[in-house]
Amino acid sequence: MKYVYFFGAGKADGTGDMKDLLGGKGAGLAEMTRIGLPVPAGFTITTEACDYFFKHGRKYPKQLRADVAKNLARLEKLTRKKLGDAKDPLLVSVRSGSARSMPGMMETILNLGLNDKSVEGLAKATNNDRFAYDAYRRFVQMYSSVVIGLPKEELEERLRAMKKKRGLKDDTQVPAEGWRELLGEYKAYFKQKTGKNFPEDPVEQLWGAIGAVFESWMGEKAVTYRRVEKITGLLGTAVNVVQMVFGNTGDNSGTGVCFTRDPSTGEKTFFGDFLLNAQGEDVVAGIRTPMHLSELKTRMPKVYQQLEKVRQTLEKHYRDMQDMEFTVESGKLYMLQTRTGKRSPGAAFRMAVDMANEKLISIEEALERIKPEDIERLFYPVIDPKLARAELSNRKFAEGINAVPGAAVGKAVFTAEEAEHWAERGEKVILVRRETSPEDVGGMYVAQGILTATGGKTSHAAVVARGWGKCCIVGAEKIDIDAAAKKMSSNGHVVRQGDWITLDGGDGTVYSGEIELARPEPPEAYETLMKWADKVRTLGVRTNADTPQDARAARGMGAEGIGLCRTEHMFFKDFEQPEKSAERQQAIQEMILADTSEARRTALAKLLPFQRRDFIGIFEAMNGLPVTIRLIDPPLHEFVPHDPAKQAELAKKIGISVEQVARRVEQLHEANPMLGHRGCRLSITYPEILEMQVRAIIEAAIDCQKRGIKVLPEIMHPLTLDKKELKILETGTRKVADEIISESKVKLEYLVGTMIELPRAALMAAEIAEVAEFFSFGTNDLTQTTMGLSRDDAGRFLPEYVDERKAAIFKADPFQTLDTDGVGMLMRWAIEQGRKTRPKLKVGICGEHGGDGDSVRFCYQLGMNYVSASPFRVPIARLAAAQAVIEEKSLKKTAKKRSKAK
Ligand code: PEP
Ligand code: MG
Repeated sequence: MKYVYFFGAGKADGTGDMKDLLGGKGAGLAEMTRIGLPVPAGFTITTEACDYFFKHGRKYPKQLRADVAKNLARLEKLTRKKLGDAKDPLLVSVRSGSARSMPGMMETILNLGLNDKSVEGLAKATNNDRFAYDAYRRFVQMYSSVVIGLPKEELEERLRAMKKKRGLKDDTQVPAEGWRELLGEYKAYFKQKTGKNFPEDPVEQLWGAIGAVFESWMGEKAVTYRRVEKITGLLGTAVNVVQMVFGNTGDNSGTGVCFTRDPSTGEKTFFGDFLLNAQGEDVVAGIRTPMHLSELKTRMPKVYQQLEKVRQTLEKHYRDMQDMEFTVESGKLYMLQTRTGKRSPGAAFRMAVDMANEKLISIEEALERIKPEDIERLFYPVIDPKLARAELSNRKFAEGINAVPGAAVGKAVFTAEEAEHWAERGEKVILVRRETSPEDVGGMYVAQGILTATGGKTSHAAVVARGWGKCCIVGAEKIDIDAAAKKMSSNGHVVRQGDWITLDGGDGTVYSGEIELARPEPPEAYETLMKWADKVRTLGVRTNADTPQDARAARGMGAEGIGLCRTEHMFFKDFEQPEKSAERQQAIQEMILADTSEARRTALAKLLPFQRRDFIGIFEAMNGLPVTIRLIDPPLHEFVPHDPAKQAELAKKIGISVEQVARRVEQLHEANPMLGHRGCRLSITYPEILEMQVRAIIEAAIDCQKRGIKVLPEIMHPLTLDKKELKILETGTRKVADEIISESKVKLEYLVGTMIELPRAALMAAEIAEVAEFFSFGTNDLTQTTMGLSRDDAGRFLPEYVDERKAAIFKADPFQTLDTDGVGMLMRWAIEQGRKTRPKLKVGICGEHGGDGDSVRFCYQLGMNYVSASPFRVPIARLAAAQAVIEEKSLKKTAKKRSKAK
């Protein structure tokens, strides 16, 4: 097994496609070396070594020590320098890097190889005492915190104290003597805490660093990041040991991060930050606010030109936007990293469409580049454009750099921990920090938006928030944050913890107070790309909608019909005429409390006109498209009050005794209502409910047809478990419907079908399809009943089932992403069996999974006719359906190639 891959002087053992093995950084360094870009030499320890490390009780593979020694010797030979040398020492950086970028989540150690001897060598070789001791103290500082785990804050505190004592503000002002003094303090602190001297042996230092990088793979923040980003299936992190180059040797040195296109807007401009006389971490950590790349153009025109060329080479080579790190050491450019850059959702669309138009990629590739989250986040809110400008400017609190667009409203909190606690209580929060660090990632995730007082557009806060499409403002330097006192001030105004603030990530303004937000219009590129998706896909996409408003909104999002209209939602609320809601509620409650079938019918008659009006609105909104309407589903006790005061109120309203109400509610009580008297069982026992609902549907349809509105109703029975049961319901349905239709003399076609929500129904699908004209998988209930996990309670323990450091039983929450192995097996069977009986059986899905990208792809593979998703997830389903076709095509292509090769 080869655990170590070398690169340097134009040659590399690895290549750019070995990301899984070498990590993104390692593969990028190898590839950049191969194509002749200026990259310092080094070697990469593979992710397989990391995997071995964790699988063998944190032991390295046997041959690793020898392999590392061999490659270190090769590096020393190539650079003509030696680690720990007293004259002109080799120094290395030790960096993490997994196959998926996890900005700042894992560890890095710079300047490794320095000790009391080699620091003198470095000082002599560079003729710069101050630089050498600065490099040394940085190393000791990093090593102490990253490898040994000493608290960062304690070390920083000593740095601040030293500067204060000397009356200095910036690190760049500290003389060699200051760094020497700090080194002494760091080492004393190290000894006091560990009982040992700081390690002088560079090889011991190296192994300490390698171990720490591996460990950081399982560190809290990395694990959290993988969970929220849904990153699974990776072996671990690689370790890159690379010759150090220095951006902090003076004013003709520096370090920067740049993107081949603007990651916020997607525009094709060269975009980036640069810090003069600084080391790489200073840019990413957002400690100093950097200058724009255009300034580099004036300060170092030659370097800029060279960098511009690298930009073009890399984008063409990788055929995607690249995020690059570089260092200029005494006027010479070095590339330290290239990777596919994270981008805002809007930028993702613009880049995909632009690159396809530039013929850099194909339309299929453009479609594959958009993630479901990009779409979801595209519709994130902005400050309501109708708000008066003057009103806004009155509320202005501060200004910063607009790192990630969108707007956010929430209560200010000053620590990530607090953000998590508040969010758990259901509060909306804005996380305010001087700068964020990877430890904050949990709090950042739950926050509506993020505000930092320092940093540029490539700071940690900006990069992480951008990946999530979360509104973020950085570098709001005028804000004075007092985290201990839980407040911040700016312009003479104070915001305390819990006060509302509003961020406008579009222009970087921070407002005090709670400002109204509005949903934005999607960019042009969105429309183009979605049109491309619609051309490619074959799977239909419908929506789950219960009101005319939702139906209209979903049509705007591209829905091709309704896959699920939950009629019971109409019992409680009148969406068109809210003042009539109480009347509806009373009618349904009367129906439930009724003792006789007659009394029930009287109550249902009151409900009929309401339901009919609802259906008319929905049919109008969906003119010409199919509408699946599901009859009553939830257990009746959900509709009646449980507390005595409300019961008394109800009794008075409908003129019966409180005792009667209480008794009926008590009768309705069930030990396990999800498996109780619900679904079509209600229509079996109370056929008058079915009759009223079918009447409302058909009368509404006829009313619409008469007015030239085309209606395609599909009447759906929920939770069916038997053919005989469905037959009774179907007969009842057709009896009512056909009578009304024939009386009206209007031509109206309709379908009668069922949901498949129980394992028994899936297993007996062949028989059920003798009656059902269509199936719609209710995968919320089907998941619940197949797994025996309550959809309402599983949230308490499911996180542990998904957490890779805990039980890691599932890759994803089965209520969000279909369990294709188990539930999926039942679905596959049901479709096969159903279509054996009825070859043209229409099949769809209307559980939450219909709006989940991975699940939609699976539904396509099963040969469904359509998926149905909530309105805002309709575009996700459209895109996923197109991606499924592309994926299938490419799989077929590879299979063909393989069989040819044989
Ligand atoms: C389902 O069970 O998947 C479904 C769509 O029905 P509901 O969520 O209303 O139970
Ligand atoms: Mg259901």
